[in-house]
Amino acid sequence: MDAGFSRAVEALKKARKATALTGAGISVESGIPDFRSSGGLWTRFPPQEYATIQAFSSNPVKVWRMLAEVEKVLAAASPNPAHFALARLEEAGRLAGIITQNIDGLHQIAGSRRVVEFHGSHATLSCLYCGKGYGRGEVSGEAPRCGCGEVLKPDVILFGEAIPPKALAGSRELSACDAMLVVGTSAEVAPASLVPSAARRAGALIIEINLEPTALTPTVTDVFLKGRAGEVLPKLVAAVVG
Ligand code: NAD
Repeated sequence: MDAGFSRAVEALKKARKATALTGAGISVESGIPDFRSSGGLWTRFPPQEYATIQAFSSNPVKVWRMLAEVEKVLAAASPNPAHFALARLEEAGRLAGIITQNIDGLHQIAGSRRVVEFHGSHATLSCLYCGKGYGRGEVSGEAPRCGCGEVLKPDVILFGEAIPPKALAGSRELSACDAMLVVGTSAEVAPASLVPSAARRAGALIIEINLEPTALTPTVTDVFLKGRAGEVLPKLVAAVVG
C-alpha cells in the first residue's frame, strides 16, 4: 500500500476530531463543472463577470441568466461516491463535520448531518432591499422578485461579499481538529483557502485529495492523495471504518 495512503488511514483512525473541507472538485463527478473545467458553463458565464456582488447590484437580471443555468445543472445532479463516503465516515463517528465551499447541497442529500455551507446555499433567496427571505420553492421565474418588487438574490456568497458570521464561526469550530481532509479545492478563493492552514496551526494532519497539486500541496499539506475524489475517498473510508 502507498505510504501516504497508510499515513492518512492511521491519522483518521487515531483522530479524536477529524473534519473535511470540500470544494467544487468533489461535485465534478456529479456533473457540476468546477471553475477549472474547460468549456461549458463557466466559459459562457465567466465568474469574474457574473458571480460578483457588483454585477448583481448593477444588473441582477443579467446575473440571473447565469444563476438559472446553474440551477438547471444543480437540479440534475445527485451525490457521487465521494459525498457518500464522507457521510459514511460521519455515521461511523469518525468525522465531526464538513466545511463546504459548494452551494449544491449534495453533502446533505448524501446523508451528512454537520455541514457548514461556507459560501451559502442555492436553496433559499433573500431581498437585498427589504431583507425578506424565501425558499426556492416559493418563487418562480428566471429572475424571481420579492413582494416589494426587487429582484431576489439566492443566498450564495458572490465574489465581493462577506462570509456570514455563522459560517465563519462553524468553520472555526471545525478547524480546531487533529486531521482534516481537503478535497477538490484549488484553494484560490480566500478566506476558505485559509482554513487548512488554520487547522494545521491547531495541530491537524492535512490530507489533500485532488487531481493535481495546488498551492496548498507544498506548503500546508502533509499527505497528498492524487486522484478522483469519487475513487480515492471511498477506498480511504473503507480502510478506516472497515
Ligand atoms: P475550483 O473550481 O477553483 O477548483 C476545483 C479543484 O478541484 C481543482 O483543484 C481541481 O483540480 C479539483 N478537482 C476537479 N475534479 C476533481 C475530482 N474529480 N476529484 C478531486 N479533485 C478534483 O473550486 P473551489 O476551490 O471550490 O473554488 C471555486 C468556488 O466556486 C468556490 O467558492 C465554490 O463555492 C464555487 N463553485 C461551487 C460549485 C458547486 O457548488 N458544486 C461548482 C463550481 C464553483
